[in-house]
Amino acid sequence: MKHRLALIAHDNKKADMVALAREFAPFLQLCTLCATGTTGGRLANEVGLQVERMLSGPMGGDLQIGARLAMGEVDAIIFLRDPMTPQPHEPDINALVRACDVHDVPCATNLSTARLMLLQWMQQSPV
Ligand code: PGA
Repeated sequence: MKHRLALIAHDNKKADMVALAREFAPFLQLCTLCATGTTGGRLANEVGLQVERMLSGPMGGDLQIGARLAMGEVDAIIFLRDPMTPQPHEPDINALVRACDVHDVPCATNLSTARLMLLQWMQQSPV
């Protein structure tokens, strides 16, 4: 079965997300991807990935992904948070990370963890 992956990057982390997606593009093309609005737009335009775009994070995109996750429809999240900048939708961010912990869904919040997770998945189902 295809891995179902949600991708979110705060503004200062979007370039990192694009670089990560380029690095793993052949594998990510085999996954079912969704993302918050702006992150998804960049992944589609700059990496050529097929991504279902939710609302932008501050407009409720994190909550949409959290709801999907709670329904068992997301296998993992790469959530490149910006730890140095306050976010207006902090409650939504906390809710999403909490939902990951409630449902024991992997949530990679930095590049190193994201790479470990993607490499592990690739070993399970090589491209
Ligand atoms: P965005 O949302 O991808 O729409 O920018 C991410 C966020 O800031 O939570």
